[in-house]
Amino acid sequence: MGDILLSVLRDQVDGSFTHLDPDAPLARYGMDSLATAEAAVRLERATGRKVAPDLLAQTQTVREVARLLAGEPIHGTAPHDGEARAERRPPPPKSVPFPQRMAQAMERVNQLRGAGRYPYHPVTTAVDRGHVFIDGKRMVMLGSFEYLGLGDDPRIVEAHTKALRRFGSGSRGAQAGTGRTVLHVEFEERIARFLGAESAVLFSTGYLACLSPISALAGASDLVIGDALNHASIVDGCRLSGARFQSFAHNDGSALERLLTQSDSAHVLVAAEGIYSMDGDLGKIAELAESCRRHNAMLMVDEAHSIGVIGATGRGIVEHLRLMPGAIDVHVGTLSKSFGGIGGFVAGKRDLMDYLRHYARGYVFCAALPAPNIAASIAALDVLEQEPWRVERLQANARRWRDGLKALGYDTFASETPIVSVRMPDETAAFEFAHRCKERGVFVVPVVFPAVPQNAPRLRTCMTAGLTEDDIAQALEVFATVGRELAVIG
Ligand code: PMP
Repeated sequence: MGDILLSVLRDQVDGSFTHLDPDAPLARYGMDSLATAEAAVRLERATGRKVAPDLLAQTQTVREVARLLAGEPIHGTAPHDGEARAERRPPPPKSVPFPQRMAQAMERVNQLRGAGRYPYHPVTTAVDRGHVFIDGKRMVMLGSFEYLGLGDDPRIVEAHTKALRRFGSGSRGAQAGTGRTVLHVEFEERIARFLGAESAVLFSTGYLACLSPISALAGASDLVIGDALNHASIVDGCRLSGARFQSFAHNDGSALERLLTQSDSAHVLVAAEGIYSMDGDLGKIAELAESCRRHNAMLMVDEAHSIGVIGATGRGIVEHLRLMPGAIDVHVGTLSKSFGGIGGFVAGKRDLMDYLRHYARGYVFCAALPAPNIAASIAALDVLEQEPWRVERLQANARRWRDGLKALGYDTFASETPIVSVRMPDETAAFEFAHRCKERGVFVVPVVFPAVPQNAPRLRTCMTAGLTEDDIAQALEVFATVGRELAVIG
């Protein structure tokens, strides 16, 4: 173990020493936070043991690193190492053999395929301003999150192409290593300014931008409290953090207040969303922010569906609710929706963002977003800043679509945004409805349990600024016809 440690430390820093003093401070070997994060990866590879960078960062001496690797308490406390914890768990109960479990899990998928009603994984052959070509047919796309219709905007395609010629298609490594370019720096500065934040950090997907901060901002002795309808990426981040997790009923500020009052954790992170992705309703962020402020808890808001969508100029929930600057500690956004690209970002205070650069696992251990994707998002941000009418048009289209559906007699849940879910009486109706819409040139996505409650199957539709009044009228006509055929409406 000593040899492995020596070799990793020598490679990690300047390499001029030949032996390690077990009780010397790690700083003597040049270990700073960045070197620690990279050493964690190398130690994991070399020893085959899980080495959490935050635990490695708690070690002060070579002897403590060795204890961590051996699964012993670092400072003479309970074991921290994942393996050591696993050894103390009771053996798992005997379960159904995996092949049988897999067959059971796939039963419904295979039934739908057999009936010719499987709606997922459609293959797109081309796109055209809010429309897609699937199975050789041009369709009105009502399942896309490209809210502003920017994915195939010629200015964005051009920016992507130019950067592709300059930087190539890959990213050569993580941002901390070799993957950072001037475009990363530019986008981070631009998006921070756009949101009124001090600083921002780019991640390779929105999923990672949600998951990673949680794992860096909360640890085993902390508490994470989340809205019951939070996206899977937030839930997965909580799991990864190892923190205690509690949820409160959807949008119930008083339930959160109760949990915060009862909490005896010194550090609490609260996670919620600007717009909820299944029901299309707004998060009650003003109320949550006030509770967090009172209880000194940190507030993270996933704005995947709200940036570019709400607020007069698309700046999201802060602009929409006129929140005080600093009401949200951690803003999370994605580039795959309004920006029409791929990637994610986190924005907040400068010191917090700097910390994430060194401790957010999905940043440290993941290849950087390739420069062409960032160039595309910079171009999208230019368009968003120069053409705020797109946000207005999106909001007007969403109103027209939602009001039209309601006038036909549909239940659109609590939607007040471009996400408009349409309640279906049962799952079979949801799949049949989607199939018949597709036959008539309108693409919609059915969503059923476990993505939504068992008693709330639906078609989850998303309006975009790329669609015209004629497109919306056509879609409403199809919904009127199919709804009557299937007796979903009278
Ligand atoms: N948060 C929410 C609320 C989402 O809906 C999604 C994706 N659907 C994500 C995060 C993840 O973003 P991405 O798909 O860009 O990785």
